[in-house]
Order: sequence, then structure tokens, then C-alpha cells
Amino acid sequence: MPKWLKLTLGVFAVLFAVAGAAYYWFVVESSMPSDAEYAFDIRDVRRAIGSTPGDRPERIELERVAAFSFPATAIVAGDGWSQREMPVYSFRLVYPDKSIIIDTALDAELGGDNLVAFDEEAYARMNRAMEEASLIVITHEHMDHIGGLTVHPNLAAILPNAQLTERQLSEPARSLPARFEEGVLDGFEPLAYEGFTVIAPGVALIAAPGHTPGSQMVYVQLKNYAEYLFVGDVAWQYRNILTQRQRARLVTQFFLNEDRKAVFGQLAALHALSEAEPDIAIVPGHDGEIVGQLVEAGKLTEGFTLAAD
Ligand SMILES: [Zn+2]
Repeated sequence: MPKWLKLTLGVFAVLFAVAGAAYYWFVVESSMPSDAEYAFDIRDVRRAIGSTPGDRPERIELERVAAFSFPATAIVAGDGWSQREMPVYSFRLVYPDKSIIIDTALDAELGGDNLVAFDEEAYARMNRAMEEASLIVITHEHMDHIGGLTVHPNLAAILPNAQLTERQLSEPARSLPARFEEGVLDGFEPLAYEGFTVIAPGVALIAAPGHTPGSQMVYVQLKNYAEYLFVGDVAWQYRNILTQRQRARLVTQFFLNEDRKAVFGQLAALHALSEAEPDIAIVPGHDGEIVGQLVEAGKLTEGFTLAAD
């Protein structure tokens, strides 16, 4: 073999090896760090809920406002390049005399070209439900959860009912392209808590920083004692919990700037919870299959029922 050819082949071999390693690291690798942990005990939350007087919610409704479509490996590292749908939801806890909204999706403009579906009617119902709600909480400050709030046509009236946390407002760049107009938050008093806090009968917020600084899970116990854990985007889909595999590092590092180890700890804790307490309905941020199963089982109801209906 001529020397130049040998050299050229050698260079290509090195390039392919480097590219292969980079591909593995950024697209496929997702092993649980040995020191990943998340301190969380569902019994503490239950105890606090049990000692909070008042009627708990009677049922939970949902609106599927929009949908993204991501490559599978973006959702669960190593799952390949076929497209998977990522529905965007808003949930509504219905009490005899009030309601609470969990997550506010986004409008079509914020979603832009990233959306593969947008339901105008669902969005309109969600907007009306936000006006009726006594509380509005978001699982985290990303545009597909806070966006519907930031662009609400009657924001000034509903903002006092929004239980945004200090952490959710601490890094506004995380919410972009969603953002509150200059001055809108003047005088707004964000919620601050450590660990978890009960915000209404049957409802607790559980801090879960990692995906974003303001990420939290919402625990719900209905009047009939059925339990739910809305985990926001700690897990985009249930498969993250089942396999304890994260989003591809390409996504967590360059697009989300996420605390990957913290999220791993949460996935491990949720996996342990799912084994110890299989009756708790764990609801990931964007899982059409799980939500479909819960609807089928009568544990979630499709469509917000509003006072004027
Ligand atoms: Zn999301």
C-alpha cells in the first residue's frame, strides 16, 4: 500500500472512531449515574394531604391542546429516529365549588412550525377554564406549559390566581419564546417552598428541579382516594420511567441545559414508586398512550366542562 493511501485511511479511521464515539455519547448513552438521588417519600405527602381539611377534587379533566413530533431518541436515548408524537395537555381538577388548572399549554403562534397539531376549540375551552379557575399551577416554566398563561387575553385578571413559584420565575430565558410582558409581574408574589407544599385539599406541589429550576410534580388525591402524580417533563413519556433512560444528551445538554443527574434521580424515584405503589397514576408531560389508557379506565375525562356549557 502506498504511504499516502495508508495515511489517508488512517485519518478516516480516526475520524470515524471520533464520530462514532460522539454519536454514542450525544444520542445513545443514558446510563443511570451511581450517585443520582432524589429525596422523596410519598407517605409524607399523603400525611399532609390527610391533615388538610376540605373537599378534595371529584374528577380530573384534560384538554389536548397541541402536539409536537420528536425523534424517539430525543425522548428516550437510544430509541432510534422514528417520529413519536408529543401531545401538549392542560388538566383541570374539578371540585364541587371550584377548579384548579395544571399546565396551560401554548398558543399556535408560540408553537410555530414545531407543532404538528393544534386544537383551536380545546385552546379556547382552556382559556375560559383559566378564567373560572381558583388556582392555576404549572409543572414548569417551559413555553408549552406556561405559554397559555403568558398570552392569556385576560392575564391581569387571572394572574393573581396563578401559583407560579420563585424558581419558575428565576430564569425567564427558560420560558422563551413565551414571556410575560414588561411590568406584568410587578407586585406579583410568587410561591416559595422547600420539598413539598399543600395548595388545596387533595393537591400538593412537590419540588423537582432538574429539567428546569422551577420543575415540580403535582400530587392529586381525589375524593374517592384515587391518586395521581403529574410529573411534568421530569419524564416526557412513561418509557423514561420504565427504562430509567433519559432524553438524549444532545437534547438535555444543548437544547434544554438540564441538570441531567437530578432528572436521573427523579426517574429512579418514580420507578421505585411505580413498583411500590402501582395504583398511583403517574402522568408524564407528553404521553398520549398513558393519557389514553387513563381516559379508557375512567381516571381522566376528555374535555373541560365549563359553567356556561
Ligand atoms: Zn413540555
